[in-house]
Amino acid sequence: MTDKRVNSMHLPRVILIDLDDTIVDDTGSLRQCWVEVCEQAAANLNGVTPDQLFAAVDARRDWFWSDPARHREGRLQLRETTVRIVQVALADLGFESPALARDIGESYHDLRDERLALFPGAIETLAALQRQGVRLAMLTNGAAKPQRAKIQRFDIERYFDCIVVEGEFGAGKPDPRVYEYALDTLGVRPEEAWCIGDNLDWDVGAPMKLGVYGIWHDPLKTGLPADSTVKPDRIVHSLSELVAD
Ligand SMILES: [Mg+2]
Repeated sequence: MTDKRVNSMHLPRVILIDLDDTIVDDTGSLRQCWVEVCEQAAANLNGVTPDQLFAAVDARRDWFWSDPARHREGRLQLRETTVRIVQVALADLGFESPALARDIGESYHDLRDERLALFPGAIETLAALQRQGVRLAMLTNGAAKPQRAKIQRFDIERYFDCIVVEGEFGAGKPDPRVYEYALDTLGVRPEEAWCIGDNLDWDVGAPMKLGVYGIWHDPLKTGLPADSTVKPDRIVHSLSELVAD
């Protein structure tokens, strides 16, 4: 990507950027990882098919993550949470085996970590924005250790003037303090900033309430859900659209 493609006339002073599923493709491999892990694990479960194990885990995952309070607590200790979810799913199938639950949960996360990848064009976009003088803040929910490990692994700290990790900051999106802290740190008013991410509530709706321009990252091109109460100012399918003509 060349500087020529960046139209700085249309760029703000500051952009608040989400990490998971915005810079790194975090959940793109999720289903396939579960399929593979269930395939292996079902061999140790008499009379249970991989599909049955997958369905049991999927149902318990849906239930667990659908509640905001459970989500908040669970994401700060992700591996333990997954192990607990698997343990309950195994119990649903008639198996009481904490050891197997741990084995499945850990294998799943190891596989997810292995397949984690940057979205195409993400680094080039961060670099282009930086060259154009746009200051960047990363706002990421989750525990300090895994989030910092991703930042280090993909060597992206260099593009950010401010990084807010929920586990370090003590609050996560959509708490207004997160956005306000980043805006204060970079010395701009909300109207001078954009916020972009894949979570409609955390990355778009909450910052828009403060006056920030909200951009929804929709990499799978699923489109805005019909019942969405959040109406983004803009929708992109890739970060690189921010710097395209
Ligand atoms: Mg995200």
